[in-house]
Amino acid sequence: MNCDTYAEWLSAQLDGELAAEHVVELNAHLATCESCRETQRIMRGLAADIQGLPRLAPTDRSTLAINVAIHHLAPKPRRVDFGPVMDVEELAEFLRVPLETVGHYLDDLPSFELGGKLLFRRSSVERWIEGREHRFEPEEPFDGIPKNDPYCQITVTR
Ligand SMILES: [Zn+2]
Repeated sequence: MNCDTYAEWLSAQLDGELAAEHVVELNAHLATCESCRETQRIMRGLAADIQGLPRLAPTDRSTLAINVAIHHLAPKPRRVDFGPVMDVEELAEFLRVPLETVGHYLDDLPSFELGGKLLFRRSSVERWIEGREHRFEPEEPFDGIPKNDPYCQITVTR
């Protein structure tokens, strides 16, 4: 057994991880080896110094940098600012549905054409939604879906 191994044992002992069967051998070596006693002295000193170090809190500057980095990783918030007039892509985003769904309701949705472009007035679309919402309010008890189920209604956030 060489001193490098005993140094590892000393480190393990400091961490409370030295196998019990090695303790006697380590102590016997320490009794005869000045170099390993010095290693033990240095290790104990270091451990004590580390224990004595203050626990540091991150500065505001580094906390801010971390928050900015996290913010950049997060998915973009859903768009909520829609103008009074929307094109078909904006309407799909506004309704939170895929573009194909808008295409499916194109004949039904209030729209107008300008310069070859199909446009939707937000207020008209909102009225159209309100008209559809009423269809989901059954006059008599409706078995299956609870009346107040928020997922059964299209709601518009203004
Ligand atoms: Zn030694």
